[in-house]
Amino acid sequence: MSSPLILQSDVLIIGSGPGGATLSRELVRRGKRVLLLERGIDQRSRFYYGTYPGAMIYADRLSLLFTQEGLNIVRPLMVGGATSMYCGCAAPPPAWLKQKYGVDLDEEVSATIEELEIAPLPAELRGEASTRIAQAAQALGYDWQPQLKFMQPARAHPFNCGAKCMLGCRCGAKWNAAEYVDEAVAVGADLRTRAQVKQVLIENGQAVGVAGTIGRTPFTARAETIVLAAGGIGSPRILQASGFREAGQGMTMDTTVMVYGFVKERGIGNEPPMTWSWENNDEGYMLSTLMDPWLLYPLINSLKGLKYALTWPRWNHVLGVMIKLKDDISGGVFPDGKISKPLTTNDRSRLAQAEQVCRKILIEAGAERSSIFMTPLRGTHPSGTVRLGTLVNENLQTEISGLYVCDASVFPEALDRPTVLTIIGLAKRLAKYLA
Ligand SMILES: Cc1cc2nc3c(=O)[nH]c(=O)nc-3n(C[C@H](O)[C@H](O)[C@H](O)COP(=O)(O)OP(=O)(O)OC[C@H]3O[C@@H](n4cnc5c(N)ncnc54)[C@H](O)[C@@H]3O)c2cc1C
Repeated sequence: MSSPLILQSDVLIIGSGPGGATLSRELVRRGKRVLLLERGIDQRSRFYYGTYPGAMIYADRLSLLFTQEGLNIVRPLMVGGATSMYCGCAAPPPAWLKQKYGVDLDEEVSATIEELEIAPLPAELRGEASTRIAQAAQALGYDWQPQLKFMQPARAHPFNCGAKCMLGCRCGAKWNAAEYVDEAVAVGADLRTRAQVKQVLIENGQAVGVAGTIGRTPFTARAETIVLAAGGIGSPRILQASGFREAGQGMTMDTTVMVYGFVKERGIGNEPPMTWSWENNDEGYMLSTLMDPWLLYPLINSLKGLKYALTWPRWNHVLGVMIKLKDDISGGVFPDGKISKPLTTNDRSRLAQAEQVCRKILIEAGAERSSIFMTPLRGTHPSGTVRLGTLVNENLQTEISGLYVCDASVFPEALDRPTVLTIIGLAKRLAKYLA
């Protein structure tokens, strides 16, 4: 090991997903010295970005991260965080965030929608088969609507979006939080990649810095303000190593499955993911058009059984409806590295109900009744591990002065919708408070 590196700034931000990227940009624009520490690297210009090997290179445990119960978590670790592999969906924060927890993000979210030109894709780009699913749902009385997107087809070269976009966007249509990092760096933020923070340094009840490694070199960085934005798994781990015993106890995931059915015509695999959606706020789940990329399809379905993996040759004829469940707080992220996310009885019963709705929609859309099946559980929204109202206050401050958390881990309940717009709103609001 080489000798320790010592860094200094006004604000330390740990993690460059939508939380950390937005906060960095906003604070540096307000004249703060910002040091942004990210454990991954910028993968956007790598030849493998947006490919199957790429997804193994930049997602935690080669994309094979599982909870103790066998739920597969996709956890991208790179500049831009999970927005480097997301579906580009946007949703305003749920009404309960303001009503129940007093967190009003209206101004920040409206400004973001305008700035990033968030809107549904034009009708001709929503996909023929996806639109057929939405029309079938509407015919059954479910109010499916075109999904808001962080996507601008005009930016693409050319627009070429399909299920594969979840490996990383190669055509350029999708906004990525790494773009906010670029903007922050352009006006003076100091970005250090391969910088893994291990713990927060606390002296006399005040956070004074962080310690970790940059590559193989140990470092410490000191500042008056420290903001953890390492995501729903990363932030509680840093807090646990810093003495916060309650961090990571309980988590939300918006647990997700897909329900698939086969048709003779072309399916949705080569259409942009999640172009139509429906929020069932009463029961607490969201439905949308989505299916697994070609090579992931047999892998994930083999977890259910060989018979399901062997439907792979019919990949081009799949209609898929995603269920995202507003899951109860359960399990957690533990100091020994384990993650647990059991479904509660209440979760299971709502999931079964949502599955029945998906079956009806798929049959109405023309799928063979006997071909319909539900995939194994997976999770792409690890969150609710440092909950607002429990471990952070409404200004996202922990009980330690100078130490804040600003990412998906502060959600007080499962959001049950795309998270990124809410996280950007939280970061813009925190920037105003800190400035
Ligand atoms: C496949 C997929 C599809 C998705 N689709 C959508 C969608 O369409 N719309 C939507 O809104 N959301 C979507 N999401 C979810 C959304 O991307 C995440 O919820 C969101 O990015 C979380 O933001 P965050 O700032 O909390 O953390 P993250 O985006 O997870 O970023 C955290 C960052 O911190 C870094 N980090 C972690 N630990 C450390 C450490 N110790 N030291 C330094 N750095 C660290 C990580 O490398 C990472 O870059 C999707 C997610 C996935 C995986």
